[in-house]
Amino acid sequence: SAVSAAVSAVFRHEPNATPVDANERAKRLIDPGFGRVFTDHMALIRYSETKGWHDAQITARAPLSIDPASSVLHYAQEIFEGMKAYRLADGGTALFRPEANARRFNRSAQRMAMPEIPEALFLESIERLVRTDADWIPESDGGALYLRPFMFASEVFLGVKPSAEYLYMVLASSVGTYWKNGASTVSLWVSQDYTRAAPGGTGEAKCGGNYATSLVAQAEAIRRGYDQVVFLDARERKYVEELGGMNVFFVFDDGSIVTPPLTGTILPGITRDSILTLARAQGVDAREELYSIDQWRADATSGRLVEAFACGTAAVVTPIGKVASPEGEFTIGSGGPGQLTMRMHAALVAIQRGTAPDPHGWLRRL
Ligand code: PMP
Repeated sequence: SAVSAAVSAVFRHEPNATPVDANERAKRLIDPGFGRVFTDHMALIRYSETKGWHDAQITARAPLSIDPASSVLHYAQEIFEGMKAYRLADGGTALFRPEANARRFNRSAQRMAMPEIPEALFLESIERLVRTDADWIPESDGGALYLRPFMFASEVFLGVKPSAEYLYMVLASSVGTYWKNGASTVSLWVSQDYTRAAPGGTGEAKCGGNYATSLVAQAEAIRRGYDQVVFLDARERKYVEELGGMNVFFVFDDGSIVTPPLTGTILPGITRDSILTLARAQGVDAREELYSIDQWRADATSGRLVEAFACGTAAVVTPIGKVASPEGEFTIGSGGPGQLTMRMHAALVAIQRGTAPDPHGWLRRL
């Protein structure tokens, strides 16, 4: 299109003069884990009120030098995204629904009083980085190139106001499966003391501050012997909202599924949306409804609830085995991965890997 052509024209490429050599790269890709193995390059675009978006580049990944008075370091005006580029079964490469990430990024930007980035520019920055560092996409089962676009306030000023300058960047990180033991279940701790997002707050924005406030709750879950924290609504401490970094689904004995509605306090997950779409296309009754922690416990105990799972880009779909709160612990189904959970996981992964048809047009091939 005319827009993407115009955008292409402004990108400068400065190849990394000392890239990681092929042997060393292969070694790092054997068991990359999550978020520690980075590629040779990064994307960077500057924004200022006077110049708008400018100085777009793909350049060597390197430390930044920023002024200690940069506004982000004091008032946390920062947003980010997360998505994956996959190696397809036919050898090609594709991003999964990156347009949805672009739209969510701009909704986050609006909430944080930051400038929106043209969707074409966002997509162009990601595609150029993936093409440049395509050798870093792991071939291993479940491996992918995780893309981390982010933007922060870079104006040098200690006044509290929206920054007049921003840096937008994209990092690429080779990742394996999020949880090494694949389909094994996670256990959840229901936080009573801490909430993640209040009505009118920033819960539906992907801003760094939301994650900073979740850390103490997540640490409590770990201390008590559970894998992940699950948050309740801030108003009543009654309804299940989401995990620290994943949405949640409940599966009932009549074959229907439920996920909490997008009331403004939870992140509108792209995996969540994909699962709702896939389930409905399969004829599954998939509802967005408030669901209380007391109901969850009662339904798990009576057998009405047979499965529960968490979902997000990093882990795709992860079965929930047990849930604990101060009122005690309860087991979901048999405590192991359930059938519908595994079916959803397989359906999603098949589309992402290009081994199943893509009826919703979710893959963006490079
Ligand atoms: N909730 C939170 C709080 C998250 O950080 C994420 C990860 N982005 C999700 C849900 C899942 O979103 P997605 O499916 O788009 O990765």
